[in-house]
Amino acid sequence: MIILSGGTGTPKLLRGLRRFVMDDELTVIVNTAEDITISGGLVCPDIDTVLYLFAGILDEDRWWGIRGDTFHTHNAMKDAGATELLAIGDRDRATHLLRTALISGGMSLTGATRDIAARFGISARILPMSDGHVETIIRTPDGDVHFQDFWVGNRGEAEVLGVLQRGADEPGEEVLDAIEHEDTVVIGPSNPISSIGPILSMRGVREALRDKRVIAVSPMIGSAPVSGPAGKLLRAMGFEVSSGGVAQCYDDILDVLVIDERDTIVPSGGFEVVAADTLMDTREKSESLARFILHLLR
Ligand code: GDP
Repeated sequence: MIILSGGTGTPKLLRGLRRFVMDDELTVIVNTAEDITISGGLVCPDIDTVLYLFAGILDEDRWWGIRGDTFHTHNAMKDAGATELLAIGDRDRATHLLRTALISGGMSLTGATRDIAARFGISARILPMSDGHVETIIRTPDGDVHFQDFWVGNRGEAEVLGVLQRGADEPGEEVLDAIEHEDTVVIGPSNPISSIGPILSMRGVREALRDKRVIAVSPMIGSAPVSGPAGKLLRAMGFEVSSGGVAQCYDDILDVLVIDERDTIVPSGGFEVVAADTLMDTREKSESLARFILHLLR
């Protein structure tokens, strides 16, 4: 089973899927357009969350970082006057430094992710969407800023005029091959602009998905995302802020859209719409949505 993922909504669905599907049957293609180097360590926020989820050590209150991590190095950096944009835990930082070391030694991000996953004893296949550097840039009235400067530095408060992507468009070395070997692809409830959009923009990915049955779970409930800046980014890109807007983002590849049962407006188009309780605020709710998705797959 193959799933396209960002770093919050889709990992909540993966938490549920793991109850019914063996990890070694799961392939997760993960967004890397929010990656950023901090104090010399390559932080891949979405890959890290997926790694920690499968390793069983994810902080599931925040959906980033390692449960119970300490912040000695982060605080020492701050005391030394080197402010870090993201609060990085000590064990989390070890992942970033190991990743950086592996890549400096000549490995691709795909290889480094495989290596780190193996060290954590993970049997799921976690594939970066690209091995090249990709950046999501938010256009604001004060200029263009990196996604993390907008979302973490500015708390997402700036007016968004547009979203651009810079950097590589070459998919990760195993991405197209992984898609080719599946009949159905699940797009998890992640941000369609800043998490799934970058994956779909990798060369050949949309084309490969047109031949597949694509089931997408909406990250919106009514006219708002469950969390994060999806509403602002959808609006800036000219899409409706609703499941209908999400469907518009995927219109050329979408076969089935899972909307929330609370939605009063049902999008229409060349795809089937099904409704479920998509709010995964507990493990049980992740599992029941996962069961629903697996039912659709069968
Ligand atoms: P990011 O990398 O942290 O932005 O991670 P994602 O793109 O994976 O996750 C952000 C998106 O997940 C937001 O658009 C949220 O609306 C969505 N999301 C978070 N929790 C849930 C949930 O419980 N249900 C649904 N349907 N969407 C969710």
